[in-house]
Amino acid sequence: LASRDVKQDDTVIRFPGTDAVIGGGHHIAIVAGPCSIETREQAFAIADKVAAAGAQFFRGGAFKPRTSPYAFQGLGLEGLQIMAEIRERTGMRIITEAIDAETLEMVVEYADVIQIGARNMQNFSLLKKAGKTRKPVLVKRGMSATLDEFLMAAEYVMSEGNYQVILCERGIRTFADHTRNTLDLSIVPAVQRLSHLPILVDPSHGTGKRNKVVPLARAAVAVGADGIMVEVHHEPEKALSDGPQSIYPEQFETMMNELEQIAKVL
Ligand code: PEP
Ligand code: MN
Repeated sequence: LASRDVKQDDTVIRFPGTDAVIGGGHHIAIVAGPCSIETREQAFAIADKVAAAGAQFFRGGAFKPRTSPYAFQGLGLEGLQIMAEIRERTGMRIITEAIDAETLEMVVEYADVIQIGARNMQNFSLLKKAGKTRKPVLVKRGMSATLDEFLMAAEYVMSEGNYQVILCERGIRTFADHTRNTLDLSIVPAVQRLSHLPILVDPSHGTGKRNKVVPLARAAVAVGADGIMVEVHHEPEKALSDGPQSIYPEQFETMMNELEQIAKVL
C-alpha cells in the first residue's frame, strides 16, 4: 500500500479549515515546538513565536519515551489539554506522540496527528492500533531501521485502513560520535522513489546539537523533504528535555526565511 507501484501520485495530507498541507512536493510543512510540554507558560511562549514565524504545526511531547525512568516523563493529559488550547489560539495543528495503546486513545482525542516515536517504530501492535484510527500518523524512523523496515512500519498502519501516513527521518545510530545520531538525508530521495508517502526530516534529534540543526534543516529542504520537524525552546538551558538541541525562536525565524529561499529554487 505504501508503494509507488500501487499508487503513482504523491499522497497529500490536508487539514480541513487550514492551509496546512503535508506532501505533494509543492509545500514545505513546518512542525515546530518544544521537545516536552513543561508548563502552560512555556508552551504558549514557544507556540506564539513559532506561529508568528509561519509554522503550520505545533509539536510537543505529553508522553515522553525517556532513556531514564527518573527523567521527566511529560505532563500527560494536562500536556494534551495545553496543546488543544494552543490549537484554538494559534490555528496550528497539533502533533504529539503516543507511546502505547492507552496514551494512543488520549492522543487521538486531542491531537491532529499521532506521532509514533523511533523507539516504537517496530511496535507492531501500536502501529496497527494507530491504523485503526482515522487521524494522520507520523512514523519516525527507528534508530537502526533500514529503508525497508521503515516502509513496512508505514505498511502496518495502512494495512488497517489508515492511508494518511507521514514518514520522518530522525537520525540513526552509527559509529560517528560528533553528533547524537547521524542524519540520513539520503533516505529522502530513496523513500520518494519507492513510496508516495510524504517524508519529513527532524534535524533536532538527527544531530542533537543546536548549532547543527539549522544547516541540516536547510539541507533537508534542498534534498526534497516534504517538511521539517524542529525543536524550539525560548529557554533551552532550562528545558526538561533536549535543551542542547533546541533552537531559539530567533534562530527559527531566520531559518524560516532561509528555507523559503531554498524551496523557491527547487
Ligand atoms: C521526539 O520527537 O520528541 C522524540 C522523542 O523523537 P524520537 O522518537 O525520534 O526520538
Ligand atoms: Mn526531543
